[in-house]
Amino acid sequence: MISSVREKIMEKVLVVGAGMTGASIAAFLRQELPKSTKISIWEKSNGIGGRMSTSRASNIRNSTVDLGAQYISASPLYQQKHSGIYSELIQAGLLMAIDVASIEGHSDKQPDTKHYVVPEGISALVKHFVNKADASVGRQHLVTSITTEGTHVAVTTEQGIKELFDAVVLTMPVPQIFQLKGDIAKFIGEKGIKADLQNVSYSSRFAVGLFFPPGTCLDVPWSAKYIYDNPCVRYVSVDNRKRNKDSADVGPSVCIHTSVPWSMENLEKDKDSAAQEILEHVKAVLPWLPKPSEVKGHKWRYSQVDKGFPGSPGCVILSDSPPVLLAGDAFSRGVFDGCLDSALATQQLLVGLHKSKV
Ligand code: FAD
Repeated sequence: MISSVREKIMEKVLVVGAGMTGASIAAFLRQELPKSTKISIWEKSNGIGGRMSTSRASNIRNSTVDLGAQYISASPLYQQKHSGIYSELIQAGLLMAIDVASIEGHSDKQPDTKHYVVPEGISALVKHFVNKADASVGRQHLVTSITTEGTHVAVTTEQGIKELFDAVVLTMPVPQIFQLKGDIAKFIGEKGIKADLQNVSYSSRFAVGLFFPPGTCLDVPWSAKYIYDNPCVRYVSVDNRKRNKDSADVGPSVCIHTSVPWSMENLEKDKDSAAQEILEHVKAVLPWLPKPSEVKGHKWRYSQVDKGFPGSPGCVILSDSPPVLLAGDAFSRGVFDGCLDSALATQQLLVGLHKSKV
């Protein structure tokens, strides 16, 4: 009985955003919903990963660098809570445990935290969940408007696509929710959560990826290093070494993250001119570094969650019927396990909403 009702109500579900939260929501919904349910993921950019992004060199085949999230760090609580997910990812070769002694200047907030890297690049983790979801992925689908039309949610993109869904989950960083047109402002007003959403804040950072030709040797005793005596550069990794990938045929890659104060001061600079300034600071920090063959700059305006949504509920209902939900790391914790928490809460809520209609 329940499954037949769910089948009728949940024919089409849309997840907006192909980051870690969106991908895991889609995968967890797939476990609960009938095979016939069409799960779509619409993503504004061309790539999958969001803030767990891996960038490719344009001129060196197979050379990649993680520009956003670097490590998956599981506290004892989450090693237990998400043990099934961790086992699956480790067995699939997606996560590899590392010894943090190779990260200079690292200190754990919680003892017995386990650290992992993603050898194929952090976005491989997000792609894994997208594949599990068997979802249709719409790239370059920048959602601009959400309205309700009877029992459906009408979603429109900047590219002029309009489609009706039975349920929609939005996973973009919170300030980007306010950019949406249609009924979103009305929903937020009705739920009385405008101030709570406006109070959510993120730090900002610039990232620079450097690619070096095959044969380049970067002879340092660390895989990554936190830097505390430069105003601009906060973190450097020899990214392939961090991921335990041999660079003999591919060439090494380096990731640089800027400090939050420098990033805030320079936030309105474009990513390429900021990258040139960051490289001047890199010369002071790593004077031995050879000239890279390619430089890729990136601006994370919304980087890590500074202040999350009150109570960390995992997700929030904007509209009960038809369902429109908000999810993402700001509704839980700004790390991998927070995304999984948000996705599990969304799965439970969405499936629960429909069971209650039986
Ligand atoms: P996002 O990854 O932001 O995904 C949201 C997606 O929505 C994006 O792909 C975006 O393009 C898309 N989108 C936005 N607006 C629209 C629209 N209108 N239409 C369609 N699509 C849209 N976490 C860790 O666990 N370990 C770390 O070491 C770590 N380090 C970090 C370092 C940096 C520099 C950054 C930036 C983050 C780091 N994090 C780390 C945090 C981690 O990356 C995030 O918690 C996680 O990626 C958030 O995933 P999400 O899916 O909630 O959001």
